[in-house]
Amino acid sequence: MKRKLPWKQTVKRALVCVILLAMPVRSAPPHAPRQSQSSRLSDNPRVRAALDWFTPNISWINDQQARLTEIPAPPFQEAPRAAALKELLAEAGLSVQIDKAGNVIGELGGVNGKEIVIVSAHLDTVFPDGTEVKVHREGSRMTAPGISDNGTGVAALLALARAVRFARLKPQRTILFVGDVGEEGEGNLRGMRALVDTYRSNLKAVIVLDGSSTDHVTTKALASRRLEASITGPGGHSWSDFGMPNPINALVRGSVRFISTKVPASPRTTFNIGQIEGGTSVNSVPYEARLKVDIRSESEDELTRLESALRECIAAGVRDEMDSARDRSKGKLEWKVELLGSRPGGELASDSPLLAALRAADEFVGNVSRIERSSTDANIPLSMGIDALSIGAGGNGGGAHSLQEWYDSAGREAGLKRTLLTVLGISGVAEEKSR
Ligand SMILES: [Zn+2]
Repeated sequence: MKRKLPWKQTVKRALVCVILLAMPVRSAPPHAPRQSQSSRLSDNPRVRAALDWFTPNISWINDQQARLTEIPAPPFQEAPRAAALKELLAEAGLSVQIDKAGNVIGELGGVNGKEIVIVSAHLDTVFPDGTEVKVHREGSRMTAPGISDNGTGVAALLALARAVRFARLKPQRTILFVGDVGEEGEGNLRGMRALVDTYRSNLKAVIVLDGSSTDHVTTKALASRRLEASITGPGGHSWSDFGMPNPINALVRGSVRFISTKVPASPRTTFNIGQIEGGTSVNSVPYEARLKVDIRSESEDELTRLESALRECIAAGVRDEMDSARDRSKGKLEWKVELLGSRPGGELASDSPLLAALRAADEFVGNVSRIERSSTDANIPLSMGIDALSIGAGGNGGGAHSLQEWYDSAGREAGLKRTLLTVLGISGVAEEKSR
């Protein structure tokens, strides 16, 4: 082990001073230290009863997770899984409805019904209709597409609802337990958009349960855009019409330009050509070619810059192809770039009560979690200045979005308790009247 050099200590001390000076004044707790929030909460006998509900019910929770995962929920086809969840939340004693977007909403009325806290888990998967979704179980391990993302979140949502109802817990603020639609891909967060739209004026916090583990908390929303470029032309025969402008050629020319676009390492900015299609047969000049691109950045400005770069490159590709065409008599190429989806960015303030509730819950279960930036349902509330975060719901998982996706429920209690305390930490619990 190396001894620290004195200058390093000085630097470190100086840094600590800078950090302390830079901390906002109100982050210094005026009344009680952080830990006491959750110890006070867990001192409440009803909260205690809810926390204690999880351990003896783990196998029931695992069974529900497997059952719900085996109901396919491809994008835009979440309804059968939503119907099953609706029934389960109603059995748990909540009043449940399905909104126009297809979200399942189970309500637990609070003392102050005007203030709302949403805890949500997305119902949809990335897997297309017809994917084999049978769950294979071996001990505490389950394997199936969607078992972790978001079987874990949906099962946790149900477990939380059961636990609070079992403990006959009355929150201060109304809690909505929501299985929401349209989180993945081209769903474009439509379920969360609808929820925030409906409850916006009363919404105090959103806690998103997405996938497994307890090692992170997403408080920074990664902004992204999905774009589709398409080029069309007259089309023709590969031999007799040779020399006429070819949409695939133009798309390739434009793509080669686009992938040479420089993006900064900081703010981190990425692009990906994820799908390319067009043409009908090998011996035809195609009449259409399409390209889908996903762009992400820590900065909205970079996103805008990259989106314009794509438009310019596609336009240039079309121009190059038209310039080199020998035969322009049968028509020219048309192009467009359309926005398929856009996820706005945002950030939860480091001194927000919601983050304090999560940290207190972490401390209660002895967990350490790191702050992450990612693209989740929390993007929508965060982009509107509503407190939100996204966490895993416990246990361990891997292979998300692959057919080998797995989940191991060992230790999932910690994740469930952490989630419960975060939700109750922000909803508050009604004072018990002494009898
Ligand atoms: Zn997910």
